Amino acid sequence: MKHSPCARVDPELMFPEPQNTHAVKTAKSICEDCAFLAECRELALAPATRSPYGVWGGLSEAERRDAIRREKRGRARRALYPAKAA
Ligand code: SF4
Repeated sequence: MKHSPCARVDPELMFPEPQNTHAVKTAKSICEDCAFLAECRELALAPATRSPYGVWGGLSEAERRDAIRREKRGRARRALYPAKAA
């Protein structure tokens, strides 16, 4: 997104080594005031547009994996127990 904060920094900053917690925090802080945060996060989690690498939508690689895993578990649970889902 052309006018987003990440477009104004060194692209390497948005792709920190996952184990470098300081660098991941720095990348996430770049997203904090982004006007496109919600839209970017949605794209970052959507099957057709997600990437396993980098910080997107304020989420680290691990956070996105967890969110996707939770979503899949929720879908499976709702399919198995539709009456309990609400
Ligand atoms: S939320 Fe998305 S568009 Fe905004 S700064 Fe972060 S990675 Fe860039």
